[in-house]
Amino acid sequence: MTIERSPEHEELAATVRRFAAEEVAPVIAGYYEREEFPYPLIEKMGAMGLFGLPIPEADGGMGGDYVALCIALEELARVDSSVAITLEAAVGLGAMPLYRFGTDEQRARWLPDLCAGRALAAFGLTEPGGGSDAGATRTTAVRDGSTWVVNGSKAFITNSGTDITAFVTVTAVTGRRADGRPEISTVIVPSGTPGFTVAPGYSKVGWTASDTHELSFDDCRVPAENLLGAEGRGYAQFLSTLDEGRVAIAALSVGLAQGCIDECVRYLGEREAFGHKLGAFQALAFKVADMEARTHVARLACYDAAHRLASGRPFKREAAIAKLVSSDAAMVNAREATQIFGGYGFMNETPVGRFYRDAKVLEIGEGTSEVQRMLIARQLGVG
Ligand SMILES: Cc1cc2nc3c(=O)[nH]c(=O)nc-3n(C[C@H](O)[C@H](O)[C@H](O)COP(=O)(O)OP(=O)(O)OC[C@H]3O[C@@H](n4cnc5c(N)ncnc54)[C@H](O)[C@@H]3O)c2cc1C
Repeated sequence: MTIERSPEHEELAATVRRFAAEEVAPVIAGYYEREEFPYPLIEKMGAMGLFGLPIPEADGGMGGDYVALCIALEELARVDSSVAITLEAAVGLGAMPLYRFGTDEQRARWLPDLCAGRALAAFGLTEPGGGSDAGATRTTAVRDGSTWVVNGSKAFITNSGTDITAFVTVTAVTGRRADGRPEISTVIVPSGTPGFTVAPGYSKVGWTASDTHELSFDDCRVPAENLLGAEGRGYAQFLSTLDEGRVAIAALSVGLAQGCIDECVRYLGEREAFGHKLGAFQALAFKVADMEARTHVARLACYDAAHRLASGRPFKREAAIAKLVSSDAAMVNAREATQIFGGYGFMNETPVGRFYRDAKVLEIGEGTSEVQRMLIARQLGVG
């Protein structure tokens, strides 16, 4: 399998790589240390059109495809994962559900600002009681005249509490099916709606310059037209949103894995021990060789899934495989890179120190590695 990039994709990669090196790299350690959302960087990414990459121009986007989004995520995550996850969640979890399932009015109202990065949207699926079993949603939305009344809470929701967060799409039980199982729908809850409370940001191990909150809804009323798509379609909507999101998280993982290689190759050529450059020691050279091999395999899996998605072919199995192998590659590369950097690798000031802290969540968010294995096994008719 060979995965070619179009000239437009190459140009995008070069543009985002330059932005990450010139604009993100010099300042991100400060944001990370202060656990501060990097508004000026997000504004610049918005001006570059990154938030509208896979959305048609008619809806306010750039008219690119999902491969383009993955390329941008990979290039950003080579330098920093907080800005990369902000983009991933804003597009994959925020704008894409609205684009795919929203009404014409909903798209016209929200998408231009989301695509321009002037506003962010979040996706509230996970609850404090559990995320892997997302069908066990406890949050409810009850129809009362011309409104939906939402009650419940959501945990770990990315981009849900920034100054520019426009709304959160929330999965909620809206009834019972004939077989007794809950009927789940998705409701758009604009920021500032009475009864919608955003808790203070979590103190996180990694992605510390990204925005993550617990949310609660207490008799929170939104207009009936804030239902996303048809009533009862919430389960199918979030499964499809997560399938796409997994490809994007794979791209973020490939970027982090590649960032580890970039840093290590430079360091092995600079740092000396026992009168030799570190790169002269085969034990360390083999580590970067393995990192390169791991990243190559992860990149193939990621872009295979992305190309399938972009061309309308089935990609569920490939998305799960891509997320599983890419997050593993990121995790192992981050561990090895930290080892190569020695004590400096344990310092937050070095990119590899941040890579180490950022890698773990890639095996958790948008479906844990166990969930990916469940999906792959099911495709084989097992489990
Ligand atoms: C920084 C961050 C940002 C996030 N952003 C969002 C967001 O924007 N929107 C959103 O909705 N969610 C978000 N999440 C939530 C994330 O998707 C969940 O944390 C994840 O799906 C796991 O759910 P959980 O934490 O409840 O773990 P649990 O579901 O409680 O799982 C705990 C452990 O049990 C394992 N497990 C569970 N069931 C099985 C099984 N059947 N077989 C084997 N093992 C199993 C899991 O793999 C895991 O290891 C975010 C999480 C983090 C950390």
